[in-house]
Amino acid sequence: MCIWVIMYAQVIVDIAHSQVDRIFEYSCPPGTEIGCRVKVPFGGRTVEGFVIGLEETPSFDAGKIKPVYSLYEELPALVPECFSLMESIAARYRVPKAASLRLFLPTEMRLGKVSEAFVNYVKATGKGEIKPSAKRQAEALSCLSAGDMPLSVLAEKCGRAAVNALVEKGAAEIYKVKRSRAPAGEAADSRPKELTPAQKDAVEYIEKSDKRVQLIHGVTGSGKTEIYLNLIADQLKKGRTAIFLVPEISLTPQMLSQLRGRFGGEAAILHSGLSAGEKFDEWWRLRSGEAKIAIGARSAVFAPLSDIGVIIIDEEHDSSYHSETAPRYSTADIALMRAKYNDCKLVLGSATPSVETYVKAKEGEYGLITLTERINGKPLPEIIIADMRREIRRGNPSIFSRALREELDTTLSSGNQAIIFLNRRGYSKTVICADCGYVAKCQSCDVSLTYHSEENCLKCHYCGARYKMLPACPECGGKHLLYNGTGTQRVVGELKELFPSAQIIRMDNDTVSGKDGHYKILKQFGEHKADILVGTQMIAKGHDFPSVTLVGILDADMSLHFSDYRSGERTFQLITQVAGRSGRAGSKGKVVLQTFSPENYILRYAVGYDYGGFFENEIKMRKAALFPPYSLICRIMVISEDNDEALEALKKVYFAVDDIRKSDAADFLFLNKMHSPIKKIQDKVRYQVLARLKSRRHLGELYDIAVSASTPSVLVYVEENPVNLS
Ligand code: ADP
Ligand code: ZN
Repeated sequence: MCIWVIMYAQVIVDIAHSQVDRIFEYSCPPGTEIGCRVKVPFGGRTVEGFVIGLEETPSFDAGKIKPVYSLYEELPALVPECFSLMESIAARYRVPKAASLRLFLPTEMRLGKVSEAFVNYVKATGKGEIKPSAKRQAEALSCLSAGDMPLSVLAEKCGRAAVNALVEKGAAEIYKVKRSRAPAGEAADSRPKELTPAQKDAVEYIEKSDKRVQLIHGVTGSGKTEIYLNLIADQLKKGRTAIFLVPEISLTPQMLSQLRGRFGGEAAILHSGLSAGEKFDEWWRLRSGEAKIAIGARSAVFAPLSDIGVIIIDEEHDSSYHSETAPRYSTADIALMRAKYNDCKLVLGSATPSVETYVKAKEGEYGLITLTERINGKPLPEIIIADMRREIRRGNPSIFSRALREELDTTLSSGNQAIIFLNRRGYSKTVICADCGYVAKCQSCDVSLTYHSEENCLKCHYCGARYKMLPACPECGGKHLLYNGTGTQRVVGELKELFPSAQIIRMDNDTVSGKDGHYKILKQFGEHKADILVGTQMIAKGHDFPSVTLVGILDADMSLHFSDYRSGERTFQLITQVAGRSGRAGSKGKVVLQTFSPENYILRYAVGYDYGGFFENEIKMRKAALFPPYSLICRIMVISEDNDEALEALKKVYFAVDDIRKSDAADFLFLNKMHSPIKKIQDKVRYQVLARLKSRRHLGELYDIAVSASTPSVLVYVEENPVNLS
């Protein structure tokens, strides 16, 4: 006798709302497993849910339990580790469990926008008979005698009617084959290199060390990538898997082709340039075990791998590792949770580690590997400071110093390439009235507009709104409108005048569009189809262009003057990273750094590649002023379309935090409520409660306050040591 066992599933419904942040029970069909995505009835609707547990007995009246409608797939999409992390993430960042589970699934898959792709194939069965007059059917059969064919190809050749007739007679059959949407891209020849002694030591040290987290602090070009690849290969040999995170992989075509070349189909690459279908297929290749290495930006830390052997975060200092949407996690925090769960190492790498990370390495909490030399002993490029104040005194009003012009001349005439870097912050071309000082601003956002000469219009970089050029100042009617600042467009314009025969390409948010816009520009430049690349932050990342021998940094100090405790650190990182693009191959590289404050100590350390000096100085200042890592900056944002509601929520948050302060004044270094620096974005007003805390002991309470102050029309959330204070 066969007994039909009904199982009961504990389900989390995919609605990220605190009111339904509970476990619901459904009866479920055989074959249901923990981790499956299911379709369930919920409050009169059908929603997606995640099975997080199975029981043989219901926890209440079985007659009242509704059934699961269907399963989304046979192999559970969520691996068991997800449930453990779900709890930690939900507790750490105070988000509903559904919101933390969502992180583990590609968005497109969750919303049911993509599924597997199939191709129809036709095969001959050897059965059935065809009339001698049916020429096209006979033709189709003879095509099939050489082997099965895609339906579309056969129909094209012999007509769909003929194929249908064959199928009807039973002479042919149509079947489905799963089609894999493999991301396009080349695989470079990247056979493993013989490791240098320093690289070999690093790999051995990391593998033997008993410290969970390891920091590789290696100058640009010191061969960190090869160390990562060896660590990964060693884990694959043991049958384990790996996660390799980079700031934005679509920006680094060489890295992509290198990884494809080295690991082939074992690597799945998840990046923003993929189509939804490609992402879906790459994701399932990881989940099914076909691929063993997940490579990608921040979100790849949630890759569906089991038995992870190593997690690597390259350029660990990069701000893109902080999520700017809820849950506002730091990638290293999640990576550490996963490293503990899988009992594996977390390896952080950078030429300019963040101060918070480096202090932990110095104090022995993390393992520390220092690489001071470039591969083959190539020197780091010489950095020349160009004092722009003196340039102006000498009557040079151009955006290029004499030194930079001369170096560009030498570089181009010797057939090499140059990169000109412009800080994004300095790239705005605002419009100012010379008579009254009026600055043109966006009507929906509290930010100044940027002039775009190519389209002859003004644009808002926050909401994308376009405005017509102003014929006169709307405040005073004055006609002397000045276009302030320096944009990439103006840089290209001046370069063309100075070097008419040079090929110049520009890379910034305005020129880069489409799925692989970055990739194309960088590929062009890599193939030496242009002599000069002009760009913003995007070009600072880990590119390896062998013929670049000159880097010009136009406005090194732009980021120095922000009222942010991280300004110095950011400037040091940016200069070092950008400079590192020069002289990577044979020829010696140079860097010209233009500045209005050449005596600034941060620039001095950067010019000497003195990370140690920079760090000692910085950490002393942070300690004296009690800034992170010696305190925690906590910002609670209050955002709404309705100013009154926002103010009410702001007061509620502030007084609740102030109550905590009254009970533990010693922990509060600062507490106040105010407008955010940008008062309005997309017609939503922005306020904040800013707190600086000595410890993390009240952090959880602050999250709770934010959750309870949120309403459907007011968004309230916590940011810890925010990377962007706007
Ligand atoms: P980093 O990531 O530290 O900036 P890379 O990994 O990009 O440095 O290495 C810099 C250059 O040195 C690359 O062109 C790389 O191919 C080369 N390289 C790395 N390791 C070796 C090695 N062991 N032997 C020869 N060349 C190497
Ligand atoms: Zn706007």
